[in-house]
Amino acid sequence: MAKDTSSNGTLGALIEHGYGVHAYCEARPCRHHAELDLKALLTKFGPDQPSLHYDLIKILHCSKCESQNLSFRYSPKVEQKIGPIGPL
Ligand SMILES: [Zn+2]
Repeated sequence: MAKDTSSNGTLGALIEHGYGVHAYCEARPCRHHAELDLKALLTKFGPDQPSLHYDLIKILHCSKCESQNLSFRYSPKVEQKIGPIGPL
């Protein structure tokens, strides 16, 4: 039976649901930001790796200044075009 990863905030669940994660370094003046390579993280840590902010700061650091003062933005990768707003 397949394991339910629909709502437990793991790397596998993020990828399965098409989410992208951007990481932002909060250290000044660095402010480096990049989109996380979730597939590379999954290869390294496995699909059951928890991926909430609290979990990710334990396994990631800024690639420029090595700070772990990071913030993350989770966004669904929905390829949709937003059309003009029509009349009611
Ligand atoms: Zn940094």
